[in-house]
Amino acid sequence: MRYKVDKALIKFSKIFRDAGFSCYLVGGAVRNLSMGLKVSDYDFATDARPEDVISLFRKVIPTGIKHGTVTVLFGTHKLEVTTFRTDGDYTDLRRPDKVHFTPSVYEDLKRRDFTINSMAYDLVTGEWLDPHNGKTDIKKKIIRAIGNPSERFQEDALRIMRGCRFACQLEFDIEESTLGGMKEKAANLSAVSAERIRDELEKILRAGKPSIAFHVMAETGVLEVVLPELAACRGVKQKGFHSYDVFEHSLYACDGAPSSNPEVRLAALLHDIGKPASLGHDESGIPTFYGHERYSVEISRKIIQRFKFPKAFEAHVLLLIENHMFNYQPEWTDSAVRRFIARTGVENLENLFSLRRADQYGMSAQRIDSTNLNDMQKRITSFLEAEHALSIRDLKINGNILIDRAGVPRGPMIGIVLEFLLETVLDDPSQNNEEKLLELAVNFYNERIKAD
Ligand code: ATP
Ligand code: MG
Repeated sequence: MRYKVDKALIKFSKIFRDAGFSCYLVGGAVRNLSMGLKVSDYDFATDARPEDVISLFRKVIPTGIKHGTVTVLFGTHKLEVTTFRTDGDYTDLRRPDKVHFTPSVYEDLKRRDFTINSMAYDLVTGEWLDPHNGKTDIKKKIIRAIGNPSERFQEDALRIMRGCRFACQLEFDIEESTLGGMKEKAANLSAVSAERIRDELEKILRAGKPSIAFHVMAETGVLEVVLPELAACRGVKQKGFHSYDVFEHSLYACDGAPSSNPEVRLAALLHDIGKPASLGHDESGIPTFYGHERYSVEISRKIIQRFKFPKAFEAHVLLLIENHMFNYQPEWTDSAVRRFIARTGVENLENLFSLRRADQYGMSAQRIDSTNLNDMQKRITSFLEAEHALSIRDLKINGNILIDRAGVPRGPMIGIVLEFLLETVLDDPSQNNEEKLLELAVNFYNERIKAD
């Protein structure tokens, strides 16, 4: 059976052949091709040495030359090429101390992590190598380590995290002894860099159902090592609309957020992570979590910084978590709705609503009535369409006019006056015209001077 791939990739493989080398597509590309899934990156394995590959192509980046990997820029493709290798001893729980090149593709396939990742496909001849029966495991929907799982996870603990990620991305089960090996070696993940674990978490957050990975992580003890704060939410009971404990609720809320939006996904996962810290009980013994969103923000900040997510990403996720507790009622006045918009920031509204829907999705096995939320969103849209002033930018006056025509001195007083004007206009949008604002500004400023 031939798989359809871009012709450029076949041309690429031919260049190896014509020079007397072998060249196979390997790894995730082969796995995904055989499953009919999208291929995100192409990895090739060859008996050509890195220096041979460098001489065969014009644009080659020595990405991981110590481990035999170079990246070839070929047309629009960025192709990773690794010389067939066997790995030496592993002493740092992550990378082999030394690698040895080998002429045997079979030796190379043996060092790979899971059977489904150890197939090789020759794009020129159509030859398919599958010495570890990856195809059978794909059919059975199973993640199985190659060789002795404990040994393989002892060599490189990142494989444990990859196992959780593949189970989630592919919605496969983990074979029993592989799962046993993951449990046995979970603690070794503390030796793996935060960035590597973050890369896996990011992939998990983009999967159909991230909850699958977090369940596996909880079951194997990986969660305690990687995200102990989330592990602490297990068994924390809640009442009211909630069918689940805080841990399960967080996972299902994460599933309920859009898979294309990692900020909302992570905010959904972490939005209630402060609940264990804020747990109290009312007179009838019902659990309460007053102010939990502030605890959630602080705990999430530590987590996000630990994984070295970009600063802007951190700020967005924390803003969503901090504001997730709004409790809209139809009685809210127009000015209350406008204040809500101003506080949240127009640019964050869509994500905040996404988070709120995800939160509801994660609450209960039964559907929760979201009429309230829909009504609120409609009202907000109508205000946005009416172009009401919702931020200082929208005021029909600016700092320069205040200086020139209202006699307000340059400096911090400008900001104070503009804030006051925004507050006024949020209450009554009809005041948003230059003459009126000027009059209000003069009065406000004079009152302030007198008061001081
Ligand atoms: P993705 O779809 O995310 O690219 P992938 O399986 O291709 O998944 P890569 O990280 O691109 O993962 O690695 C390519 C291949 O290299 C894997 O399929 C596997 O055969 C091998 N590999 C990667 N990381 C490891 C590891 N830590 N231990 C053993 N083999 C690995
Ligand atoms: Mg890959």
